[in-house]
Amino acid sequence: MRILIGGGSGFVGRELTRLLRDKGHEVTLISRQPGPGKITWGELESQGLPPCEGAVNLAGENLINPLRWWNESYKKDLFSSRVDTTKALSQAIAASSSPPHSWVLVSGVACYKPSLTAQYTEDSEWTPFDLLSRLVKEWEAAALLPENVAKTTKQVIIRPGAVLGRDGGAMKQMLLPFWLGLGGTLGSGRQPFPWIHVSDLAGIIVRALEPPADTPPSSSPQVFNGVAPALNTNYEFTKELGRVLRRPTIFPVPGFVMNALLGSERAVILTQGQKVIPKRTLESGFQYNYPDLTSALKEIVN
Ligand code: NDP
Repeated sequence: MRILIGGGSGFVGRELTRLLRDKGHEVTLISRQPGPGKITWGELESQGLPPCEGAVNLAGENLINPLRWWNESYKKDLFSSRVDTTKALSQAIAASSSPPHSWVLVSGVACYKPSLTAQYTEDSEWTPFDLLSRLVKEWEAAALLPENVAKTTKQVIIRPGAVLGRDGGAMKQMLLPFWLGLGGTLGSGRQPFPWIHVSDLAGIIVRALEPPADTPPSSSPQVFNGVAPALNTNYEFTKELGRVLRRPTIFPVPGFVMNALLGSERAVILTQGQKVIPKRTLESGFQYNYPDLTSALKEIVN
């Protein structure tokens, strides 16, 4: 297959590209920067969708960029980098004379309200309740294809938790302090910590790119929670990372410090969390390589 990946130069995109190429597929990235094997967002807009069987959007300004202060301009970038790129791709798909058979958006679990007790599956109803859930609502709405195109193009939304891997995401920022023995729980530590290993997320995306089994495909998007089946808390994650690294984890970071450092609107993704169940992902028969924290963290650390 020929696969087009918006934001494919990033952490998840590099893993996905590797997996797709290993399977013999052809990958073209959409990027802000021109380069070999890439088109730019401007070229997508002016020249339309290049021929492809599958398209994915992974573009988005990093939500936990420690170098960016939490202010209106950052929030605007978080929204536009996701919503505008997703809209550009869905509009290019809709305008194409031969649209791809699969269109996949990777969004996030911030749509589910943080809770110590509630459990969420892909069937859970939700309405926006804060900034990040509003972002998910607009982002996913931007991906929707017109009904006539949805008759032939399968639409899939994957909602990942924190993506764990050596080369990016949260682990890249956490490994050094944990190595130095400065790691600890965030906030109360009791909050759920939905997570997935990056290679499993790439595997779920590749499955979503496969041609639709039912013809015509369902006109509304299929949603898959991109999380590992293990339900862990931040405390369990912290202790397991310390154990795998053989380092103490005795420096908790109180919630008010996280709020001051990151801004309370985005600190929620670390100080609060949701119990997210990958019900439909499991029912689809997806086999995780890293279903539990120990196997995932050992792969990352070793
Ligand atoms: P990255 O932070 O690695 O960014 C992906 C790509 O987005 C970049 O390589 C870049 O591509 C493009 N990008 C960055 N900033 C902008 C911007 N301001 N405007 C347009 N494009 C931009 O993301 P990940 O690979 O970690 O994540 C992929 C997707 O999954 C993202 O949408 C993210 O929100 C979502 N997600 C990630 C999680 C995680 O833990 N990593 C958790 C849950 C959801 P280029 O420079 O080539 O333009």
